Amino acid sequence: MFDQSLLNLSGVGEKLQETFSEMGIETINDLLFYFPNRYDVYEVKPLSELIHDDKVTIEGEVVHKPSLTFYGRKKSRLTFQVKVENIVIKAVVFNRAFAKNQINAGDTITLTGKWDHHRLQITVSNYILGQMNQSSEIQPIYGLKGELSNAKLRKIMRIALNQYGSMVDEILPTEYLNAYKLPSRSDALVHMHFPETHQQLKHARRRFTYEEFLLFQLKIQLLRKHKREAAAGNEQKFQAEKVEEFIDVLPFTLTNAQEKSLKEILQDIKSPYRMNRLLQGDVGSGKTAVAAISMYASITAGKQAALMVPTEVLAEQHVGSLQKTFEGYATVSLLTGSVKGKKRKEILQKVAIGEIDILVGTHALIQDEVQFSNLGLVIVDEQHRFGVEQRRALKDKGLNPDVLFMTATPIPRTLAITAFGDMDVSVIDEMPAGRKFVKTYWAKQNTFDRVIQFVLKELKKGNQTYFICPLIEESDKLDIQNAIDLHQQLRSFFEPDFKVGLMHGRLSTVEKEQVMKNFAENEIQVLVSTTVVEVGVNVPNATVMVIYDAERFGLSQLHQLRGRVGRGNAQSYCILLADPKSEIGKERMRIMTETTDGFALSEQDLKLRGPGDFFGRKQSGMPEFKVADMIHDYRALETARNDAQVMIAENRLAEEAYRGLKIKLEEEDVFSGQVLD
Ligand code: ADP
Ligand code: MG
Repeated sequence: MFDQSLLNLSGVGEKLQETFSEMGIETINDLLFYFPNRYDVYEVKPLSELIHDDKVTIEGEVVHKPSLTFYGRKKSRLTFQVKVENIVIKAVVFNRAFAKNQINAGDTITLTGKWDHHRLQITVSNYILGQMNQSSEIQPIYGLKGELSNAKLRKIMRIALNQYGSMVDEILPTEYLNAYKLPSRSDALVHMHFPETHQQLKHARRRFTYEEFLLFQLKIQLLRKHKREAAAGNEQKFQAEKVEEFIDVLPFTLTNAQEKSLKEILQDIKSPYRMNRLLQGDVGSGKTAVAAISMYASITAGKQAALMVPTEVLAEQHVGSLQKTFEGYATVSLLTGSVKGKKRKEILQKVAIGEIDILVGTHALIQDEVQFSNLGLVIVDEQHRFGVEQRRALKDKGLNPDVLFMTATPIPRTLAITAFGDMDVSVIDEMPAGRKFVKTYWAKQNTFDRVIQFVLKELKKGNQTYFICPLIEESDKLDIQNAIDLHQQLRSFFEPDFKVGLMHGRLSTVEKEQVMKNFAENEIQVLVSTTVVEVGVNVPNATVMVIYDAERFGLSQLHQLRGRVGRGNAQSYCILLADPKSEIGKERMRIMTETTDGFALSEQDLKLRGPGDFFGRKQSGMPEFKVADMIHDYRALETARNDAQVMIAENRLAEEAYRGLKIKLEEEDVFSGQVLD
């Protein structure tokens, strides 16, 4: 019945139906659940409480008939005086000439509009002849297309609700409705569209927020369960004592956060499920250490491990340090495009017969001619470079290893449980003791000369410096031009004493790797770069990072960039060159200078920029909620997640009281058992 066409409603003809269709509304059901974008609240206030420039509502008596003036083409201005609390104020209405004849001296009128306190004047956006029905009125504002007006939509909505509203079935179990004191689905629906009080609206939203979150959580949790059950068994019986021993010989004690993450990972390794886990932690929080222990666990179970990193330079860096760590415990080899000929053949052979325990490389590792004898664990550094395709490649080889993704981009807790719904998440939210933090300063662009002097001092100490170039969102080309210009400018400052290198997105992979290599080997002392430098390079000798136009970057991205320095023993510095104009912009710069915690920054970022921007536009794959807001309704999200867990664990969905939920989930194909990768 709810899937009937809108033509069944009186007042909707074919033309209007078309407009609705453009808005994505095809059926009665679509219409009923087309919620307002926002609500305008009209509440008459005394003059003394009005704030300059605010949108206000006042009530008064028209003093004399409006006077009308025309200007420009088809433009008009209507002005009249209104007596409010014995004070005469001026009302201005633009482009509604027809109102002249509706408004007469002596009328009571309610005006809504922008208040000018100094001129005692209101620029009217809405007026009602007479008084408002209630002391305050909440008016829903819908997103609209074409000729459809808000008033018209409300009229049609009223008709639809009268005709169908009471037939809307409850889908939440009574037990939960009672526990959270939520209104019924049909009541809440009416109150979303025609709230009479703030209270009604609040509870209606609360209800749909919970409903949306619960359905979403049930969906992702069920999918995850299916995935696990469908994945081929991968039980790795590692030797706990050996792992303990390995941890004991590490030159440090694990932080509590490392211990906790490690425990979660080892549990996955031991279980017959295939691990699909994300390990998050700031740069230097000790993720790689945890990864190394996990790889060793896998090796004690007689398996091999692979560590995949984004670039060859990084692969080389990792191999060096891992070979030291694993001396006497496991064999570690490098396999990248640069490993060629006889050497390559030899490594491939050793991997195939299981003589190499740990293979490190770029993602060519799991493709092409590489055949593992018994791959148990794959670790992927900077997870965004590894996708479904790579997983398929593994599967095609008949391999179902546990997979651990590592990222230094902290995802706010809020987003983590939604964005990575089908992934388990471990978090290292604590730094090893005694870590030196990068000192961060905010400088105005016109202090550039002093910045240069500062850099020069560091260079003379034998340290290296990054300059990150202005970011111009719309244009790759300009980005690169900026980098080229800055490169020229800096060369004239620093050369011949210090060499200045250049890196940007137009360089080929080989060229980029070469520049990075030169910088890593200190053949270049100053590196000018666009943000391509962001991904995981490690040059411990670099102590200064100067970021141009820092206000254009997100806080998380700035933090990510900042993480390129402070990797050695020397004190490091990050200088943000920025002249932000807005208060928010200035606030962001201050936050950067004061906060070194990536998670705190990412939460701030989320608040300031919203979830869409967080992962970059569009690519986020974030769920879209109609009513719920992941940031403000975080508590509800957690509640829904826990409830969903219980419902699934106790197999409640089979019960009668859960039928409504089950039907909803079936509509979304959750039970089809379709497993992604
Ligand atoms: P990440 O991969 O998160 O950037 P790493 O695992 O590479 O961090 O660790 C950064 C540095 O800190 C390494 O030199 C590592 O040996 C050291 N480290 C790791 N864990 C600890 C710890 N618990 N205490 C002290 N130092 C640690
Ligand atoms: Mg690392």
